[in-house]
Amino acid sequence: MNQRTEFETRSTCCYCGVGCGMVIRSDGEKIISVEGDASHPANLGRLCTKGRTLPLTMANDGRALYPALRASRDEARQRVSWDVALDTAVNRFADIIEAHGPDSVAFYLSGQLLTEDYYVFNKLAKGLIGTANIDTNSRLCMSSAVMGYKKAFGADAPPGNYEDLELADLLIIAGSNMAYAHPVLFRRIEAAKQAHPEKRWIVIDPRRTDTAAMADLHLAINPGTDVALFNGMLHLLLWDGYADRRYIDASTTGFDDVKALVRDYTPKLVADICGIAEQDLILAAKWFGESKNVTSLYCMGLNQSVQGTDKNLALINLHLATAQIGRPGAGPFSLTGQPNAMGGREVGGMATMLAAHRDLQNPEHRAEMAKFWASDVIPSQPGLSAVGLFDAVKSGKVKAVWIACTNPVHSMPDQQLVEAALKNAEFVVLQEAFTTTDTAPFADLLLPATSWGEKEGSVTNSERRISRVRPAIAAPGETKGDWWIATQFAKRLEARLSPLSTGRFEYENTEAIFAEHCLTTEGRDLDISGLSYEILEAKGPQLWPFPKGATEGLARRYTDGQFETADGKAKFHAVRHLGTADKTSARFPFHLLTGRLRDQWHGMSRTGRVSQLLEHVASAAVSMNPSDMERRGIKAGQLLKVSNTRGAILLPVEASDELASGSIFIPMHWNTRFWSEAGVNRLTTAKVDPISFQPELKHAAVRVEVV
Ligand code: SF4
Repeated sequence: MNQRTEFETRSTCCYCGVGCGMVIRSDGEKIISVEGDASHPANLGRLCTKGRTLPLTMANDGRALYPALRASRDEARQRVSWDVALDTAVNRFADIIEAHGPDSVAFYLSGQLLTEDYYVFNKLAKGLIGTANIDTNSRLCMSSAVMGYKKAFGADAPPGNYEDLELADLLIIAGSNMAYAHPVLFRRIEAAKQAHPEKRWIVIDPRRTDTAAMADLHLAINPGTDVALFNGMLHLLLWDGYADRRYIDASTTGFDDVKALVRDYTPKLVADICGIAEQDLILAAKWFGESKNVTSLYCMGLNQSVQGTDKNLALINLHLATAQIGRPGAGPFSLTGQPNAMGGREVGGMATMLAAHRDLQNPEHRAEMAKFWASDVIPSQPGLSAVGLFDAVKSGKVKAVWIACTNPVHSMPDQQLVEAALKNAEFVVLQEAFTTTDTAPFADLLLPATSWGEKEGSVTNSERRISRVRPAIAAPGETKGDWWIATQFAKRLEARLSPLSTGRFEYENTEAIFAEHCLTTEGRDLDISGLSYEILEAKGPQLWPFPKGATEGLARRYTDGQFETADGKAKFHAVRHLGTADKTSARFPFHLLTGRLRDQWHGMSRTGRVSQLLEHVASAAVSMNPSDMERRGIKAGQLLKVSNTRGAILLPVEASDELASGSIFIPMHWNTRFWSEAGVNRLTTAKVDPISFQPELKHAAVRVEVV
């Protein structure tokens, strides 16, 4: 009998920002199983249901396996060689750039790309073409947290690490259903609470989610009222003498303005705005004030809002006023949604930034990168960010768009706008692992990409930890790594656009790209000039910064009360409550809330392939408070039309006492093309936060009717 040889490969989960390490077992051709990597500091051997079932997602049906091109919009795409595919892409992009300038093309990427993929795309757009029209779905996810950190601390980085979540006496969990969205991290804080039941959790969420159900205090605030809540808590903290005047004077600026502002946020007013009991607000402030160490965790409920940056800043104000930052167990800590939202920002792969947390508008920063990239075309102004980018495609200002590893027709707000934009584009390139996404039908050129288990590179998780992603099996069909596709396109485009200075994209492998990225970070806040694949191999995943000569990464930032701002001080920001973009009205009386389910991921292009993952929730539904159903004569299981001025979707209704009267909930995962009329982003608004440009995907005003 033949003995089958088994191989073990250490890699990282491709789903969420927890960034769990995993050991993949394969026979060289097929992935047999995965288990949590006990040596990985993020998950210490744990995996959630999504991570554990990754091997079941590997079937080739539904995969994009070869390049395919269509000659016109009326024809189906036909298989072509890589040479034809790349030459066509280069000719179409170069013709458009030469005729209309560099800003007539755009790239829309993904927080699921690896850091090396991102690095090449960013260099290609800003260093070769000369456009900053390169944004990503991280704009829909993290950009408010980025601006919160930058405005308050001068740098985009969570101060602490995962251990702080376990060390905190009080956890504030705001706008995050961690039990579903970050399950392994949730298990860690759950275990810490079981070991120390005196630890407290305050969960701030309009819904009584599984996370909220476990809280010591659940503040079920009205949608969009977080700023009022945090200002009200600060009012009470100052009134009750919990402010740390010594820290405020030594390490911050702007306190007096905030103090004057929050004077108006009296407990009665705030309780009324937020729809909570005054006593609960007072208790929340008391616990915050009297706890030795407070860590605040926050995610999409704060970020995906037209006041996303303000919500981040109002929460950070609480930590600065009480010196709850810069020591074990204390600090604000944003949870990243996607596996590499952080890595993408590190290489500057967004419209508003340059490599290694540099700014496009800073002449010194541009000069540094011009030298690194041997480029004289680096743009001096930010490009178009997600919503604006697709608006520009729709209006014809951007004529060719390259989409990689994301599904904007599903995930962008106001889906109809994105569909209209892609129909209007002169040329749409889609670089994807799957043919089944909502965006695939709009692609003129489909480039087949490798996926988890086949890819090589690195990612950075929510705690600033860089981990390696390694291939366990060969790439199927003619699929190629995302970095390879970007590099091949860049080399050919370089030969056409600047034939006198070729050779800037001669990367043999992802290790060479990572090495160049590390060099660009020297002296920056995220300095990883001491890191390499060799060190990651020898020492395992590492926190950044990790400068030359370091033996380990930095566990905590701002421990000395010094920040990355020009004067070294953290900044308070006086921010007022404004509320949601959509207001409920007699015509649209319901708050629609959106969110994740435990066992699904994004648009289900991967998790939708695993029947086991549909056992938790098998199909999309509208959840509604039983009293609202009774009042309107609605029975469970009836089909409801949920609509507003942007669109309508049809879904069965189910009763849920997780929701307050006046709110309904629809999960974000089901799409319109394959799962009936269920795509919730037919209803969400394209209005954005004016500072972070992040759209308000979490909330819309709607009406409901029985069909
Ligand atoms: Fe993957 Fe996130 Fe689950 Fe960890 S918690 S296994 S990273 S989906």
